[in-house]
Amino acid sequence: MELPYAEPYKIKTVESIHRSTPEQRKQWIREARYNLFYLDSDQVYIDLLTDSGTGSMSQKQWSAIMSGDEAYAGSRSFIELRETIRELTGFQHVLPTHQGRAAENVLFSTTVKAGDVLPGNAHFDTTKGHIEFRNARAIDCTIDEASRTDLYHPFKGNVDIAKLEQALATYGRDKIPMVIVTITCNSTGGQPVSMENLKQVREFSLQHNIPVFFDSARFAENAYFIKTREEGYAGKEIREIVREMFSYADGMTMSSKKDGLVNIGGFLAMHDHELYRSASHFNIMFEGFLSYGGMAGRDMAALSVGLMEATTFEFLESRIRQVHYLGEKLKAYGIPIQEPFGGHAIFVDAKKFLPEVPKEEYTGQTLAIELYLEGGIRGVEIGTLLADRDPDTRENRYPELELVRLAIPRRVYTRSHMDYIAATLKNVYDRRDRITRGYRILDEAPFMRHFTVELQPL
Ligand SMILES: *Cc1c(COP(=O)(O)O)cnc(C)c1O
Repeated sequence: MELPYAEPYKIKTVESIHRSTPEQRKQWIREARYNLFYLDSDQVYIDLLTDSGTGSMSQKQWSAIMSGDEAYAGSRSFIELRETIRELTGFQHVLPTHQGRAAENVLFSTTVKAGDVLPGNAHFDTTKGHIEFRNARAIDCTIDEASRTDLYHPFKGNVDIAKLEQALATYGRDKIPMVIVTITCNSTGGQPVSMENLKQVREFSLQHNIPVFFDSARFAENAYFIKTREEGYAGKEIREIVREMFSYADGMTMSSKKDGLVNIGGFLAMHDHELYRSASHFNIMFEGFLSYGGMAGRDMAALSVGLMEATTFEFLESRIRQVHYLGEKLKAYGIPIQEPFGGHAIFVDAKKFLPEVPKEEYTGQTLAIELYLEGGIRGVEIGTLLADRDPDTRENRYPELELVRLAIPRRVYTRSHMDYIAATLKNVYDRRDRITRGYRILDEAPFMRHFTVELQPL
């Protein structure tokens, strides 16, 4: 018979996780004010809150940890990291930061001012937070197909060029410091952007002299999708595709906690020397000197290895196959999920799952809490709580999609964990008719409220 697919690694170090009882979970979630971010990790059996910084490092990365150079200036680990990034992306200038949002902070400190607008596909929440914090606006120009969960489109992260043109016509060139393309597009469900679309954005950018930056947390997963879904790329190496992708940008921000395969870290990289010079001042002020920027030498050493491992087809195939295995299983149970499946997560359509719970009562959050109560699984709401309030009117922004994201950490869980997760969702789905009410907010922060919000059941 045909041999089945199996992971290209075996497990060397194990970490125990524990199941709990429904009674315990009921008490814990109440104590956490119905905010899953407030649960202790020991109160969670399978943690799908995020794939950010939660992956397993390889033995090569752990070996690199021992060889990190902790020099304050001119660290060998930084020089090696910079070489790796130059080789992979073509960007000459590299500023290390402690994570992705720090790279955004440094970049926007020198490029974004009050009243500016930054168009692109759906911005990630920290990106939008850093833009709005500066009294600027993020303009979502994602293609309309992205919000139709029942519709197949191979590249639902694509930017709608007509919407970009519209933003330009409305606000004018001087208000647009850059276009940001997020690869893959986290906020629409880990959906990739095609090479063709990256090229079109590039043409727009050159035509109007507006720089393009890639928010690149999952650039390797994006390359995998280009290889497997876009005509003309099947025969290309992942690193060739990565290099071509970045050839259409002026720079990038990176959260190394995703496709860097490390637990902490980030960087900013670009071509322009002037921009590098001005960003450097902010890097030194906020992050640290130019050759460490908030990272230990050993972390930079592990990141160099991680970036190389993440840009192999073998790793990406196992990564994305595992996510899709879970997706297929949920689909077989009839559970409404976003298709095509994203790279790092499965997104459950909460409006379709719990049609009785009104959006004003936070449908996505309601479903996320039910999954925790049922099986000790921690997912995360990607819906109204995350979308936050309109900065002008302070009204809730109701996104078209109310989703629960089940993010799969890299190289962490096994296939039987995927089976357990699917069974948990099936059990909640079977009793969905009895879930009719959601939650109300007791307390919330002015920015990025979902992290600290306190809720009460209705
Ligand atoms: C995680 C992420 C960020 C922010 O990175 P942190 O390392 O969490 O600060 C920015 N953009 C995207 C697309 C992300 O996924």
